[in-house]
Amino acid sequence: MTMIRFSIIFLGLVALNANANTPVSLPVPGGVVVIALAKKSDQPPRATYNKKRVSVVCNDSTWQAVVGIPLSAKPGRHNIKVSWPDKTTSTYNFQVENKEYETRHITIKNKRKVTPLQEDMARIKKERSIKANARKTWTDSAARFDFIRPVEGPLSSPFGLQRIYNNQERIRRHTGLDFAAPEGTPIVAPADGVVVVAHDFFFSGNMVYLDHGNGFITSYAHLSRIDVKPGQKLQQGDQLGAVGMTGRVTGPHLHWTVFLNQTSVDPSLFIADQLVTRP
Ligand SMILES: [Zn+2]
Repeated sequence: MTMIRFSIIFLGLVALNANANTPVSLPVPGGVVVIALAKKSDQPPRATYNKKRVSVVCNDSTWQAVVGIPLSAKPGRHNIKVSWPDKTTSTYNFQVENKEYETRHITIKNKRKVTPLQEDMARIKKERSIKANARKTWTDSAARFDFIRPVEGPLSSPFGLQRIYNNQERIRRHTGLDFAAPEGTPIVAPADGVVVVAHDFFFSGNMVYLDHGNGFITSYAHLSRIDVKPGQKLQQGDQLGAVGMTGRVTGPHLHWTVFLNQTSVDPSLFIADQLVTRP
């Protein structure tokens, strides 16, 4: 996927859908697909993809499903199932295209953060379930997709990168977008949301999860400090913490993750109009 093709898709979408409350539709593994649901109803229908509930928004009095596609998805035909308030159901098909992601070697000086000690495993296991529960958060309030950037600074690692740590054979996918910024740089909520988790994790360091409604969740990792508490309501632009290098890192940066239907998707699709392409 070249930047040129990406720009054309994005501009096409803006031209078609000015002020629409949806991210850029890019139906690839790790991308997002926006599906117009043809039928009318006053109440939102309930949509699922791979048995996980999907965000549904209203644009121009039409319901639209905003579906996150897992990095592990196979190219080909996929579908969502929709249940309407009148008890009828519909199936909508969509095509997932292939996308090649780059591979990069990373060296982490703290070897324990790559191959944890036995005594770290209980903590890591517990933290996995805290993260899974945060991703499962569902509130009925309608999601807003008109994001601002969470931090100033250049992009350092793109979403989807296949990373090999310390020359080990195993590949780990990069499920967020990294911004390089000096320690202490403010991080703000890109949209209104509620803090669901604020915790110090073994790999992610100090981390905050925000719930934006309808299964739309964002997270912020490696912070030097956390300025919010679980349950706290934030408005777009409110500071939630500061850039740091806690957890498994090579230097200070923000690791930003966006989840839809419990699936991490490319965060750049939500701020495509605010990204400057660097050579
Ligand atoms: Zn990252």
